[in-house]
Amino acid sequence: MIVRCSECLYWSNHPLGITFDAQGVCSGCQVHREKNQLNWRQRQAELKTIFDSQRQQSRYDCIIPVTGGQDSFFTVHYAVHILGLNPLLVNFNRTFNSKEGIRNLAKLRTEFDVDFRQYSINPKVTKAVMACTLTNLGSLNWLWIAGQTSLPVRIAVQLEIPFILWGAHQGLEQVGMYSHLENVEMTRRYRREHDLMGYDETGIFEFDPNFSEEDIASVSYPTDQELINSGVRGIYLGNYVRWDPTAQHTLMSKLYGYEGRRAIRGYSKFDNPDCPVYFGVQDLLKQAKFGYSKATDQLTREIRHGRISRAKALKVERQLLSANPEGVRDFADWMGISLATVNTLLLQHSPDFAIKVLEDDWRNKKFNIPIKEKISALLRSKESIDHDFQSIGKGI
Ligand SMILES: [Zn+2]
Repeated sequence: MIVRCSECLYWSNHPLGITFDAQGVCSGCQVHREKNQLNWRQRQAELKTIFDSQRQQSRYDCIIPVTGGQDSFFTVHYAVHILGLNPLLVNFNRTFNSKEGIRNLAKLRTEFDVDFRQYSINPKVTKAVMACTLTNLGSLNWLWIAGQTSLPVRIAVQLEIPFILWGAHQGLEQVGMYSHLENVEMTRRYRREHDLMGYDETGIFEFDPNFSEEDIASVSYPTDQELINSGVRGIYLGNYVRWDPTAQHTLMSKLYGYEGRRAIRGYSKFDNPDCPVYFGVQDLLKQAKFGYSKATDQLTREIRHGRISRAKALKVERQLLSANPEGVRDFADWMGISLATVNTLLLQHSPDFAIKVLEDDWRNKKFNIPIKEKISALLRSKESIDHDFQSIGKGI
């Protein structure tokens, strides 16, 4: 039976894995309590010691993976002005970029006066990989995650940069997979099992043997031997600083003009202002697969930080889940697929629980698929998807 945490909004089917105590409180809420118990001054001193051990060993003290949103500004601000580091910023282009995201990325370079590298994959390969992961994994962003979790590591190995400084660890923040005190660091295993849903760039051949090694070279992770030889370590800032994205975004907006972007299905405008599909197709896929949306993540975080009651958050979540998603047609046009195929993909990846939540909450006019038709839609699905994706998957 799927149950919901008695304190936050997370369900027991959370994709990162979640456990509950006898009172029905989830592991994420339990680990969150550490934020009010730990000595953060001491934790910060530990972080300084880690970086001091390798200072001036390389042209750059660390790599910071950045986007035009999320925790990029705070992480760079902390590295440059609190730790006194000279970072190299690395961005894997996520293809869909909002005006706010482009401006934020530009501001990161100029406000902090730092070096910056960006990598973009060509649209043809992007579409082919996306078609593959949409149909097989129900994931639109597999390629981006594969890229943004591998590019900084490859560059660190190539340039012999000792550290990569990430923001928060999602497994710790959302579901309490680790305690802050474990000082968890980046691993290949977490990337494959959780970030990439069990399929890394080598696993993707399982779905489509037509991909060439060149196609996926730009998202490949260094070998174990390369990592051992280079000694590169991926550190999460969230283990050493009391992590509170809303407070951090507000400060970054005030200090540097970090821009947010209001999304119809989003609760906070500051988390992902850079990506126009984040609260569109990507959010619909999440809702189809797990029965909740990205707004649920945001509201859960706000409950834990004491800024909204659970009762109020439940009401807000219901409103946001039923809101009309943005950018779905734009995405379908860009991919060269029909809206019917988008609908079919959503249904194809909806387990019974998510369908139940859809019945309860999802009343979208544009994507209004009566649930009674889901069986016939599923029967048609393979033919429809094959037809739409035929041209995308060929000839790369
Ligand atoms: Zn909870």
